[in-house]
Amino acid sequence: MAEKRGRLIVISGPSGAGKSTVVCKAIEGRDDICFSVSATTRKPRPGEIDGREYFFVDLDKFRDMVDNDEFLEHAVYVANSYGTPRAYVEKRLSEGMNVILDIEVQGALQVHEKMPDAVKVFIMPPSMQELERRLRGRGTDSERKIEARLFRAREEYELATFYDYIIVNDDADTAAAELSAIITAENCKYELRKNFLNEVN
Ligand code: ADP
Ligand code: 5GP
Repeated sequence: MAEKRGRLIVISGPSGAGKSTVVCKAIEGRDDICFSVSATTRKPRPGEIDGREYFFVDLDKFRDMVDNDEFLEHAVYVANSYGTPRAYVEKRLSEGMNVILDIEVQGALQVHEKMPDAVKVFIMPPSMQELERRLRGRGTDSERKIEARLFRAREEYELATFYDYIIVNDDADTAAAELSAIITAENCKYELRKNFLNEVN
């Protein structure tokens, strides 16, 4: 088989839509997909581990990383900074891995402009009421943060015009199956496989 570069998969959607849940389920059992761990100045939630959910850094360290051009993209979301470390993404893509970024819309737009062939997937909840229920049910954010995240969700819907796919996360298993199918289909694209037509003989 010809050597291939992996696909960059950008996942966005309002906080609480179920992105982490769906991504975890979609990755399960697949050794061709990995997840890019972002850096953030947000404080860890109970149960979050440095290096697994995020690299938790202070603002000085985050600014150093920006100054050293270590991010593929970065953005401020509800008063905290988030960024995708570039080196990991580049390495895994060059090894042929499909790399998932779970990033908000401003960052996704930066990636879309730098790497137009990235696959952009927007995950949304079935309704705003359900989003609110999930944010409260998660029990990790203060009332003020929940309000800010709901406000931001409406803004993100308006900005989300450049995505390739929309997944409505009503049932998480169905949503994960859809995400997995999208990644599989994107790897079967004619443009990526046309060399096989010449390799037949
Ligand atoms: P995000 O990564 O988008 O912020 P999470 O994956 O943390 O969202 O999910 C937010 C909350 O909603 C969690 O408590 C999670 O268990 C729950 N959740 C995720 N998907 C579903 C679903 N399809 N149905 C019901 N609850 C869900
Ligand atoms: P949370 O604080 O709920 O983990 O994430 C808040 C938002 O930040 C989510 O929409 C998530 O997708 C986004 N996010 C996480 N990592 C990054 C990143 O590296 N860059 C950008 N732009 N957004 C991120």
